[in-house]
Amino acid sequence: MPESDDDLNLVPQPVDRDLFGEDAVLVDAVRRYGGEPHLGRLRDLGRQAGSPRALRWAEFVDANPPRLRTHDPFGRRVDEVEYHPAWHRLLQAGVRAGLTAGPWEAGADGAAHVARAAALLVWSQLETGHTGALTSSYAAVPGLRCDQALEKVWLPRLASRAYESSLRPPAEKLGSLAGVAVTERQAGTDLRTTTTVASSEPGGPVEGGETYRLTGQKWFCSSPMSDVSVVLAHTPGGLTTFLVPRVLDDATRNTWRLLRLKNKVGQRSAAAAEVELDDTWGVLLGDEGRGLRILTDIASATRLDGVVTSAGLMRAGVVRAVHHARHRQAFGSALIDKPLMQNVLADLALESEGATLLAMRLAAAVDAGESDFLRVAVPIAKYWVSKRAIAVLAEAMECLGGNGYVEEHGVARVFRDAPAASMWEGTGSINALDVLRAMSMQPRSMEVLLGEVDRGRGADQRLDSAMDEVAGFLQAAAREARRDPGAVEGGARWMVERLAVVLQAALLVRYAPAPVSSAYLATRVAGGGGALFGTLPVGRRSTQVIVDRALPG
Ligand SMILES: Cc1cc2nc3c(=O)[nH]c(=O)nc-3n(C[C@H](O)[C@H](O)[C@H](O)COP(=O)(O)OP(=O)(O)OC[C@H]3O[C@@H](n4cnc5c(N)ncnc54)[C@H](O)[C@@H]3O)c2cc1C
Repeated sequence: MPESDDDLNLVPQPVDRDLFGEDAVLVDAVRRYGGEPHLGRLRDLGRQAGSPRALRWAEFVDANPPRLRTHDPFGRRVDEVEYHPAWHRLLQAGVRAGLTAGPWEAGADGAAHVARAAALLVWSQLETGHTGALTSSYAAVPGLRCDQALEKVWLPRLASRAYESSLRPPAEKLGSLAGVAVTERQAGTDLRTTTTVASSEPGGPVEGGETYRLTGQKWFCSSPMSDVSVVLAHTPGGLTTFLVPRVLDDATRNTWRLLRLKNKVGQRSAAAAEVELDDTWGVLLGDEGRGLRILTDIASATRLDGVVTSAGLMRAGVVRAVHHARHRQAFGSALIDKPLMQNVLADLALESEGATLLAMRLAAAVDAGESDFLRVAVPIAKYWVSKRAIAVLAEAMECLGGNGYVEEHGVARVFRDAPAASMWEGTGSINALDVLRAMSMQPRSMEVLLGEVDRGRGADQRLDSAMDEVAGFLQAAAREARRDPGAVEGGARWMVERLAVVLQAALLVRYAPAPVSSAYLATRVAGGGGALFGTLPVGRRSTQVIVDRALPG
């Protein structure tokens, strides 16, 4: 028997890390896009996210999912969700770090979205159930732009770094959170089939505009305890968005019946509720009939967060896999020195770096107001990065061997959480189809995207050829769309995948060292890799550089 467990080839806990500072790719991206003034705060957040305390919060909220409490002990309807205290610690820390408010604050600078995206990429490595509430609060703000009166009321509340969980009139609270409730039993994608209805009833106890009564059911509301929710309903003028507060101006509770909480695969910390509205008070957001347009702005911000959190989850998986391989020995040496393990880790690290670069490029585009680029690049990135995260996490889990499959190691939880980003706010196919829609309705967006890709031209012949190929099939698709739209639709995933890979490659040739970009080009662009990870056709010198860059030893 060994003297102690310390002699037993057991991997140390990966705690007390700086999840921001040790991510060179992310730090460089923040600097590149003008985020230098935010580096200090990001380092603080990185250390907090890597602390044993925060890791315990993440474990607690997963192991203690929220509970629905429909009535008080005397039989009064309360419709509350009870969360573990760690849920509130996580939310409080996220709100304080500016994950809801940062870019919307009065003094926000020109890199505020970049700083927020970097912070979310770091913080989502902890736990992504609670980040859904942070995302919907951040994403609700662009939806308010259409309505000056409501923006005046709600922007200061959402642009606050104070978190208060209590159900009180929003005007009395230091800060608010917002949710989104649009999906119905029969309508998640095709929102035209929404059955919730709203009828005008002026003078209701809701501030900020014209009041209505809403009746219907919502099927998937991730943040049912939010102070306010964006709700979609039919009015005589067509599909319309409303702000529905949980607590009314007279301090009574709005009707917001929580029927059930869903038993989900992952993100078990979050309460995804089925909600009944019954003569529920709401205030008109924008004009009647403009609901789907307003939701588009909210969806774009939500999808961007899907890209950022997926990049964060990939990073979490890569860090855990490299950490394990560095500290675990087999057949006389550390796993990380085994050529095949190194190939697997390098392949995962490539995917993670490409995702981080793309996520941060999108955030910089938000700061710069590049709306044409975002129109098409966000659904492309959401489609690709959120799906790749699932594959990366599965492989990262295997790098830990059987331990990876055990819940208490944490990677299994991250793996379970990963698919949510691909489904929420537009599934994979819906994002792919959205790219087609952008091509036909806003052709300029595709021109801008190709211009962005072209900035990588001349660095590598493989990329140049791929760019020409992409431009060629886009032209062919535009021609074919006039003749047989169904044929183009059927090829949407293939086309969007190719666009995503070329876009990531164009960023990598500009911003990553040669071993990284070259291995990416050889496999993802030129088709020299396999279908699974660990199939890089490059030597050990390259794989070593890639792995050391991902996580310095
Ligand atoms: C973790 C999580 C959190 C969520 N949070 C919220 C929330 O807070 N608020 C909210 O309102 N909703 C929320 N949702 C719901 C989510 O937005 C919907 O589930 C999603 O939009 C899909 O709608 P659906 O489930 O009705 O699927 P459906 O619309 O039934 O679609 C089923 C499948 O058909 C595919 N499909 C649909 N149309 C086409 C087409 N034309 N061509 C090809 N394929 C097609 C879709 O891609 C999908 O794969 C959440 C979902 C998840 C998983």
